[in-house]
Amino acid sequence: MLAGDILKKLRAVVGEDGLHDGLAERIAYSGDGTFQQRLPDAVVHPATTAQVSDILRIASQQYLPVVPRGSGTSLAGGPVPVAGGLVLNLARMNRIIEIDPTTSTATVEAGVINGDLQRAAEAYGLFYPPDPASLAQCTIGGNVACDAGGPRCLKYGVTKDYVLGMTVALMDGRILRLGGKLLKNATGYQLIQLFTGSEGTLGVVTEVILRLLPLPRARATAAALFPRLDAASRAVTGILSGGLLPATMELMDRVTLDAVESSAHLGLPREAEAMLIIEQDGFDAESVAKESEEIGRMCREFGAIQVDVAADAEGRARLWAARRAASGALGRIRPNKLGEDIVVPRDQIPEMVRRVGEIAARHDLVIAVFGHAGDGNLHPNILFDMREPGALARVERAAADILRAALELGGALSGEHGLGTLKREFLRDALGDDAVDVMLDIKRLFDPHNLLNPGKVFPTRPGADHTGFLTGLSAQG
Ligand SMILES: Cc1cc2nc3c(=O)[nH]c(=O)nc-3n(C[C@H](O)[C@H](O)[C@H](O)COP(=O)(O)OP(=O)(O)OC[C@H]3O[C@@H](n4cnc5c(N)ncnc54)[C@H](O)[C@@H]3O)c2cc1C
Repeated sequence: MLAGDILKKLRAVVGEDGLHDGLAERIAYSGDGTFQQRLPDAVVHPATTAQVSDILRIASQQYLPVVPRGSGTSLAGGPVPVAGGLVLNLARMNRIIEIDPTTSTATVEAGVINGDLQRAAEAYGLFYPPDPASLAQCTIGGNVACDAGGPRCLKYGVTKDYVLGMTVALMDGRILRLGGKLLKNATGYQLIQLFTGSEGTLGVVTEVILRLLPLPRARATAAALFPRLDAASRAVTGILSGGLLPATMELMDRVTLDAVESSAHLGLPREAEAMLIIEQDGFDAESVAKESEEIGRMCREFGAIQVDVAADAEGRARLWAARRAASGALGRIRPNKLGEDIVVPRDQIPEMVRRVGEIAARHDLVIAVFGHAGDGNLHPNILFDMREPGALARVERAAADILRAALELGGALSGEHGLGTLKREFLRDALGDDAVDVMLDIKRLFDPHNLLNPGKVFPTRPGADHTGFLTGLSAQG
């Protein structure tokens, strides 16, 4: 509980309805998209950048942890207030300030929902490519903090490729206004890139200027079914090295397909081991259709047993509904899941998928694999029942094996979810001591008392044996 004088100071900034410390509200802001939960001492709801800055200054003076929060859809424990303190909920800062067709930019507050921005841009014939499957809920501030991706990032890149400017409040209350409606800017260190992907550990993003592209006029989406998963993986590398760059290449394995079919009844055949959803887009419908045909031909060459192309909006929506339903549908198989987010060089996808299969068998677990196969970003989802004794310990061993396999294959711990609490212990394995120590120096520069989203990104346990990196979380938050 916070002392009365601190509550009074915070209420003076955000007003009576901008601060809540009742149990119901603290519970509502205690978790994210993982199974972790930890109660904050209070939740503040600022409405302006100046309020954010004032809150941070007060928190600094009181040595109070602050956890920035968008919609809490993180799959890495990012917004879980593991050290208590304040949750800084940016949901009220949800204004789309401007869509500027002359510079093809959007200026938005951090709490704007990704899907709302997509629709606002489309009304101007423009397009904001980063499209996390959570786009109906997640915020632009959260996307920037995690450098979020999505299916379209194969062709169009991730969030960092679209951030042209930002307003960010530092822990000591200073406000930085960086960049602008500029496509090029080589003025000093690229701080925008530093804040992007920093998972709310360096500053609180309050406003963002984003680059928009012309909305593609034509799209065709192909669904290719493969009898074997490794054939689908080989098709991905084959198509991409064959001179074509689709907007998306999404992979779903049999476990995922079964779960989606059982929950959404989309008519997906049960005999296939894998499905690729490959979307081609462009200016001209004829050339998009031609490229899509070529992709279908190549899929068959790599062993696809069925290829369906949907060029109309309804057919495409049905295929994307299947893909977006994947994560939720897995709940039908086991009540809990740990969604991993590894990246490997794309020629290593078949080997990574093979290793995930071995890891599942070794630990007697069901692991569904889906993800953005075109950019090597796979989401092996470990399915389990938390109530079974010892289940979480087995999941922990399997997750560690998956992360180590990705690193052995030249990959990375995360493609788009960030490290949060879930993968922080593996940071030194991934980057080496020198790189992590430089990052810690940067963190100290912005946040000398480790108050801004503490317990995230950086390892908390010494040594290379990470036993307890997951089981410890459920006990300690
Ligand atoms: C079903 C489902 C599907 C998903 N699919 C994808 C996907 O395809 N691609 C993908 O990239 N992710 C995906 N995610 C993960 C998640 O949606 C993203 O990480 C998203 O970017 C988080 O946004 P949020 O607003 O919910 O942020 P939160 O979960 O609230 O916070 C995430 C992190 O950002 C920090 N943060 C939030 N706002 C700010 C701010 N304004 N300033 C500074 N730091 C801030 C938080 O402290 C935390 O560390 C999925 C999640 C779910 C549940």
